[in-house]
Amino acid sequence: MKDSAPDWQKRGLPHLWQPYTQMKTALEPLPVVKTHGTRIVLADGTELVDGIASWWTAAHGYNHPHIRAVVKRQLHELPHVMLGGLAHPQALWLAERLARLLPADLDHVFFSDSGSVAVEVAMKMATQYWLNQGVRGRTKVLAFKGGYHGDTIATMAVCDPEEGMHSLFKGLLPEHPVIDLPSNEQTLARLDSFLESNAHELAAILVEPLVQGAGGMLFHDASALQHLRRAADRFNLLLIFDEIFTGFGRTGTMFACEATGVIPDIITLGKGLSGGTLPLAATVARKKVFDAFWSDDPLHALMHGPTFMGNALACAAANASLDLFEQEPRLLQAAEIAQKLGPSLGRCLDAPGVVDVRAKGAIGVVELDRILDLKRLKSRFVEEGVWIRPFRNIVYLTPALTIDDGDLEKLTDTIVKVLHEQHA
Ligand code: PMP
Repeated sequence: MKDSAPDWQKRGLPHLWQPYTQMKTALEPLPVVKTHGTRIVLADGTELVDGIASWWTAAHGYNHPHIRAVVKRQLHELPHVMLGGLAHPQALWLAERLARLLPADLDHVFFSDSGSVAVEVAMKMATQYWLNQGVRGRTKVLAFKGGYHGDTIATMAVCDPEEGMHSLFKGLLPEHPVIDLPSNEQTLARLDSFLESNAHELAAILVEPLVQGAGGMLFHDASALQHLRRAADRFNLLLIFDEIFTGFGRTGTMFACEATGVIPDIITLGKGLSGGTLPLAATVARKKVFDAFWSDDPLHALMHGPTFMGNALACAAANASLDLFEQEPRLLQAAEIAQKLGPSLGRCLDAPGVVDVRAKGAIGVVELDRILDLKRLKSRFVEEGVWIRPFRNIVYLTPALTIDDGDLEKLTDTIVKVLHEQHA
């Protein structure tokens, strides 16, 4: 740490346990004192152009004045009340707006405070859907390689086993089948034969539609999802779309499912839901799922209730974020980013070690055979004035949908420059 580092950094750092970090060898976290638009401001005044939008949450950039004003007003009036037995306008408006925005009868909204919990709720809902109808033994969820659904115990068990550290936690994790996403004749046939033998144990199929995000920024076609819908119908399974990464314009439509023609039975939302301002997630079910819980039997209720579910500040931020999607041309902006990302990152294709460049919506990915020195690569990006967080063999961009041409060029030019020097 520099001698000039602020006191709060020096005193606090030994006590802060960072995410996904080997604390002994990692780079120190950069001290951030402000954010605005697509910029992160460090304690020494340095401004970084943000290519990640804080794990792709800040769809409208940081500190959007509309979100700020709405949250400020809400803080004054009603920051939080429990949702058990009480309901406040922000949660009700938001539930109704989500129901209106989502396709078909995805109408029943259960709030939580993180994406992992939203997925756990979806898994619980799907399992209890069967139990409430007197069907026992359907306790497993079919998930896919390359997938990522969270870090909690239940969600780790439905991540790609290679990435979800399944083997490390063997014995602790519940076991769920994780197979190849159907993309060709062979994997389609394998899915079908898997279902022939195992569907009776399954409650649901769980997938990130169109883009598997944190598991490797892998893209697949709508046809894979259409096949999953048909398979779910044929084998009488629920289909869950985890849109925590893809929701709110990230892939070019408000929700990825809209571009696939597939309507899932349950959808999970998070990240961009609150415009990146406050923690909030939701699990939204179709009528047939909700109806399985609608009963005179108290044991048929969904027994879940996170303390901060439907937090009024977070719901206010989410309502303000949805106002912005209505009032400002976010999807158009995502389409414009998409047009630029492909060609501008395409200039990496002749950089050493680069094996693929791909873009969908406001997601740009440069895949390398491997990154030799991840720490050095991260430092080079910071030295060049950008905030880009490569992981494993991937350098990616998920900027705010509001990013201007100058900042987007700065990000892509820097990736091109640094990757050309990386292996040199
Ligand atoms: N599902 C998907 C598709 C995600 O991208 C993430 C977060 N990267 C999660 C679930 C987990 O969300 P959280 O980190 O808010 O628990």
